[in-house]
Amino acid sequence: MDAQQSPWMNDELQLLRESVARFADAEMVPLDAQWRAQQNVGKEIWRRAGAQGFLCTDIPSEYGGGGGDFRHEAVIYEELGRRGLSGFGQGVHSIAAHYLLNHGTAEQRQRFLPQMAHGELIGAIAISEPGAGSDMKGIRTRAERDGDHYVVHGSKIFISNGMLAGLLALAVRTDSSPGSQSLSILMVETANLAGFKVGRVLDKMGMHAQDTAELFFDGARIPAANLLGGVPGQGMYQLMGDLPYERMLIAVSGVATMEGALAATLAYTKERRAFGQTIFEFQNSKFRLAEIATNVRVARAYVDDCISRVTAGTLDTVTASMAKWWISDLQQRVLDECVQLHGGYGYMNEYLVCRMFADSRVQRIYGGTNEIMKEIIARAL
Ligand SMILES: Cc1cc2nc3c(=O)[nH]c(=O)nc-3n(C[C@H](O)[C@H](O)[C@H](O)COP(=O)(O)OP(=O)(O)OC[C@H]3O[C@@H](n4cnc5c(N)ncnc54)[C@H](O)[C@@H]3O)c2cc1C
Repeated sequence: MDAQQSPWMNDELQLLRESVARFADAEMVPLDAQWRAQQNVGKEIWRRAGAQGFLCTDIPSEYGGGGGDFRHEAVIYEELGRRGLSGFGQGVHSIAAHYLLNHGTAEQRQRFLPQMAHGELIGAIAISEPGAGSDMKGIRTRAERDGDHYVVHGSKIFISNGMLAGLLALAVRTDSSPGSQSLSILMVETANLAGFKVGRVLDKMGMHAQDTAELFFDGARIPAANLLGGVPGQGMYQLMGDLPYERMLIAVSGVATMEGALAATLAYTKERRAFGQTIFEFQNSKFRLAEIATNVRVARAYVDDCISRVTAGTLDTVTASMAKWWISDLQQRVLDECVQLHGGYGYMNEYLVCRMFADSRVQRIYGGTNEIMKEIIARAL
């Protein structure tokens, strides 16, 4: 079956796709097992990706970015997603870059974005805390003003890129009121930062190459000039503004993961034999694969429409929330079927569908849980 060409693709994006695919096959896939064993991808691959122009592709070139748009980012998530390369946390890196682009001062954009585009500074977003996940009102990490600095106390959990990150978009409370008006984002440079410690790289069900970590702040002094946008109390507004973009990263990689799993499962079932025929030839297998192919095609059409809307600047929160929950739910069902069609081999980590199955589970949880997505949708009904 020919893959359907997305309506937003063009010749320039096709060239980008081919060079990302070559890079991923040569420089990432061969290292994935090692990355999974060591629980991080290391810093060198970030510099190499930056040198190739694969980071911050939708950040304007005046800040060192690629000067493209969301389609360029989508191409990269798709090529990584199809290969099950879940350790390279480009999504949160891009989100941190967008906080700077959309809300940072001119000085902050100039200072940080070129380094992020070159892969010299890896970005992370640090919002979740032990007592604050879905409900951001529970954020306790506090930043008290002391002269030209903020002094930060508190901790964060589940932070993607947490160990490798050189720049954190850190959600803090800049005054003592409990509501959203005291939330702010500090851009924290972690190198040699006294009072800052990376805790454990967390032992997860999947995404073993991703350095999801705990972070601890005990009197870390952050220059007041690093307050995103320069005005305290804007944190909730800044975080909310970029949510449709974040949710689309999850949906785009979800569809690509399903496409990669379908291709791997077709190849496997057409090769493996039982009872004198290939696994593919059993009617059950053909029907399952026909269902998967149909579901993936429908998901692709929806996500393609969303990609076009992000590119045009018209994607609304409800449409993005629909994409996030529906695609991540489908992704898990599809991966479950793909594992089943592989038999015992589907349970072995050396098989792509096994890694994808375990990696996919979290898609329903992070980026706002699917229950929260349905809350958002229901509010608009
Ligand atoms: C691998 C991984 C990577 C992550 N990366 C990051 C990161 O880079 N940065 C970051 O800040 N965070 C990150 N997170 C955290 C993630 O965003 C949170 O885990 C998520 O928002 C859920 O919060 P929680 O875990 O506290 O669950 P809770 O909020 O405690 O939710 C528990 C359950 O209750 C349900 N629930 C909660 N509220 C409602 C409601 N109003 N209605 C119905 N059901 C509800 C939830 O849907 C869920 O099923 C990551 C998490 C993981 C696992």
